[in-house]
Amino acid sequence: MSAATLDPWMAARMGLAVPLSREAIAAWQLARLNEMIAHARAASPFYRARRDWTDGPLVRIEDLARLPFTTAADLLANDPPLLALSQSAIARVVTLETSGTSGPPKRLHFTPDDLESTVDFFQHGMAVLARPGDRAAIAFPGQHPGGVAAGLAVALRRLGAAPVVAPSPFDPTALAAWLRDVRPDVVAGPPVPLLAAARVAASDGGAPIRARAVLLSSDHVAESLARALAAAWSAEVFRHWGMTETGYGGAVDCAFHCGCHLREDELLVEVVDPATGAPAPAGAVGEIVISTLRRRGAPLLRYRTGDLARLVEAPCGCGSALKRLDGFAGRVGAGAPLSSGGELTLPRLDEALFALEAVSDFAAVIEVGAPATLTLSIAAPAPLRVAATLELARARLAEDPVVSAALRAGVLRVEAAFADVAAFAPRAKRRLAIRETARCAQCC
Ligand SMILES: [Zn+2]
Repeated sequence: MSAATLDPWMAARMGLAVPLSREAIAAWQLARLNEMIAHARAASPFYRARRDWTDGPLVRIEDLARLPFTTAADLLANDPPLLALSQSAIARVVTLETSGTSGPPKRLHFTPDDLESTVDFFQHGMAVLARPGDRAAIAFPGQHPGGVAAGLAVALRRLGAAPVVAPSPFDPTALAAWLRDVRPDVVAGPPVPLLAAARVAASDGGAPIRARAVLLSSDHVAESLARALAAAWSAEVFRHWGMTETGYGGAVDCAFHCGCHLREDELLVEVVDPATGAPAPAGAVGEIVISTLRRRGAPLLRYRTGDLARLVEAPCGCGSALKRLDGFAGRVGAGAPLSSGGELTLPRLDEALFALEAVSDFAAVIEVGAPATLTLSIAAPAPLRVAATLELARARLAEDPVVSAALRAGVLRVEAAFADVAAFAPRAKRRLAIRETARCAQCC
């Protein structure tokens, strides 16, 4: 059995014959990579200044693994600058969120060609779930030209759908009301705000929200969340992986839901051991590293994304030859190690807590100590703000093997309380906040 895939479009963009083969894709990528390295070494002050980079063409793609990484710190420092074209050739400069509170933000530059390539990917990626004539609800931010919502709207119009953009994508009550009003065939947005809207709609006695398909992107998607959204809206749920550094688009699910097929004409993806930087063993979860294959304005070579996933090369049921990413496991270094073994991570908490109908969203803080204290602030629809919900959350969390071992060993305490959902939105990426134990003023 086969299904609609990105392959014919991708083959046309690469100038390759269909059906695509891994050998043909690899040869094309190697040639583009060598062009990109030559361009970066010639035109980007950052790559020109690096003595540890190669000038000569790589003979095999595997040789890339011997070259140094580009890091978020390099983007942040931007000294020497990465920009490889004049400012006049740049259509858009994106300022990225930084984890710290001080210092300059990271900036990325996109040319008109970069932005057009992303819209083209959005169009063909969305064609996996959207059809001509569909009403398509977009719940991403970025309505300005070159933003995510704006680009997706252009892409959906190109495929014959009618896009509508949510005015308040981070307010669950407003989003639920808007979705009821729009009556979409397909919805695209970040996972937690959409789940929160679904929870509001399920508890306020109003009309149910329905959609044929939902695309989730821009944050980790827990299996429990995807299942809950599928059940609430009677929808088929698709995932997309991408970030600003990938030019927003990165990899998109297919009808077989066995991982997200990579945008291999733009991105060469490696997965490495986050501790050593060595290539991760086949099928192992590691850090996603990207090299851009077309981006002339600000090429990124061996850029460590900080996202954890598994690279899958085995054929997919849909018939696509494109590699996939799956097993998404959050961010490198974002977990709190527990002395009983394992790490407490936000994806782990998501998996446990979004399985509960009462949980719309939550914030989590872990205070490191003996024992460590995990404090959960849980957003729940008003009718479900009862003590039993908090008990249920603690009980569900205790079913997680890492949490269970920590509770048994007495190295973790869990505290849970309700918080206003408004406290969570609008905001940047969700994260598990890790705090060192406050010292005692009298004796420390
Ligand atoms: Zn597939």
